[in-house]
Amino acid sequence: MSDKFDVVVIGAGPAGYVAAIRAAQLGLRTACVDEWIGAGEGASFGGTCLNVGCIPSKALLDTSEQYYKVTHSFAAHGIEVNDASLNVAKMLERKDKIVSTLTGGIAMLFKANGIEAIHGHGRILAGKRVEVSSPGTDEVVRTLDADHIVIASGSEPIPLPSAPFDDRMIVDNAGALDFKEVPKRLAIIGAGVIGLELGSVWRRLGSEVVLLEAMDTFLGTAEREVSREAAKQFKIQGLDIRLGAFVQSAKTIDDEVHVVYKLNGVEETIIVDRLVVAIGRRAFTVGLLGADSGVELDDRGRVQTDHNWRTTAPDIYAVGDVAAGPMLAHKGAEEGIAVAELIARGHGHVNYETIPWVIYTHPEIAWVGKTSDELEAEGRSIKTGSFPFAATGRARAMEEAMGFVKIIADADTDRILGVHMVGPHVSELIQEAVVAMEYGASSEDLARTCHAHPTLSEAVHEAALAVDKRAIHRAN
Ligand code: FAD
Ligand code: NAD
Repeated sequence: MSDKFDVVVIGAGPAGYVAAIRAAQLGLRTACVDEWIGAGEGASFGGTCLNVGCIPSKALLDTSEQYYKVTHSFAAHGIEVNDASLNVAKMLERKDKIVSTLTGGIAMLFKANGIEAIHGHGRILAGKRVEVSSPGTDEVVRTLDADHIVIASGSEPIPLPSAPFDDRMIVDNAGALDFKEVPKRLAIIGAGVIGLELGSVWRRLGSEVVLLEAMDTFLGTAEREVSREAAKQFKIQGLDIRLGAFVQSAKTIDDEVHVVYKLNGVEETIIVDRLVVAIGRRAFTVGLLGADSGVELDDRGRVQTDHNWRTTAPDIYAVGDVAAGPMLAHKGAEEGIAVAELIARGHGHVNYETIPWVIYTHPEIAWVGKTSDELEAEGRSIKTGSFPFAATGRARAMEEAMGFVKIIADADTDRILGVHMVGPHVSELIQEAVVAMEYGASSEDLARTCHAHPTLSEAVHEAALAVDKRAIHRAN
């Protein structure tokens, strides 16, 4: 088999596998090199997202939500369930099965598209060559020649020197998705997306969960009212979020982790059964770049790119978590498509203004576009409309009457600039706002669009009406 390709993609996460598939669709001879070692010691394509990120976390979020409903929410519907119990091994087995099905699906897609999938570590050398070593070793097995290289090597958890990972008691996201029993006491450093999602999982299953967050504000990147409502709901659920907490040390003593942190200058200690460190992720480029590759990193260790995903080396591109921008699977996937189209046709496009954010807690949190604070800081003149789910029949019928939708529009042109949601199923509802913003809609456009009754989407409709102070089902 020839080792000459039109495109070699390094990394088979959502950015890399999508880039490879689109490149192959466009008629380019494509290889995708990925080093992830799956449970069966073989390849497991899909990167962080499929193996230890988006998908397994959502599997556990779903199981834990079902369990919580049975043990806490069914009673309100008049359903009495006695002696509900949780089988953790079965829960993990289900999660692992979902992962293996989906990672196997990527392997099948590679085959169906004629992509050569190579299990190994890729290292870029001068002259657009990629040296492949077998996974987990230094043994070079092949050298590929490429007309174009796409780097999609993803990211890794940022370690915290005061609480080093030991992969048993002090763990990262992968460890937190694989506890063999429900920890009685769980601490998480970082009340960001991972902290909140995985904290929710284990809290619903019965853990006492403490989140130690260094910042003084909770979820500072979200719309302020959304963060406030979410914080209120998380408190009701028993998530103990301590802001302004600086971890000094974490030590395992007799199967317990002693976490020492400073809060308002005062030293405190908590003793827990497991500690998760989730303080952000950083670009992963270990062993990726040969000394003469010509690819440079920026001051944050990400592969430096221009607005067309071009690195500092000709015909070498970078997409996904390893490059600048939000570390989201769908952002990487869009970039993967765009870069393949750029290579094949000379043009690719991603609209970074309409990338949605979703946090899969309960209630869910979702937004697209800018927050009021960001717009005010830019000096933009805005108008807003909000509508609570409690005023929709559907949310009431579902016993999910919490949260709201808020729409922010330009005060002069009425163009929608941001949509912020906290409440039931907003991970799905946000997509209406994404499409609206993608098409440059005004709040009036949404207000004049018929929404089915009774649905949760009526809250979006009413929020759009509320921008013009004419919501129907609340006083304006
Ligand atoms: P990755 O998915 O990290 O894939 C990179 C791949 O490249 C890996 O398989 C790696 O082994 C391989 N690789 C690296 N270097 C080399 C090399 N030199 N040679 C060969 N192979 C190499 N995002 C969302 O949008 N929604 C979510 O719900 C969500 N949930 C998440 C939950 C958790 C717990 C975590 C940790 C992340 C979550 N994310 C979520 C973020 C999402 O997983 C990432 O944004 C996404 O995986 C990035 O895709 P990527 O292709 O850039 O990189
Ligand atoms: P994050 O950036 O979302 O949150 C990290 C949190 O840790 C922040 O609140 C930060 O202030 C805090 N922090 C940083 N240093 C600290 C310290 N020393 N002590 C205490 N707190 C500290 O990062 P994450 O939760 O690790 O997730 C990483 C990335 O993965 C996310 O930014 C996101 O891009 C992606 N992700 C996305 C989803 C989703 O889309 N639903 C889910 C999980 C992860």
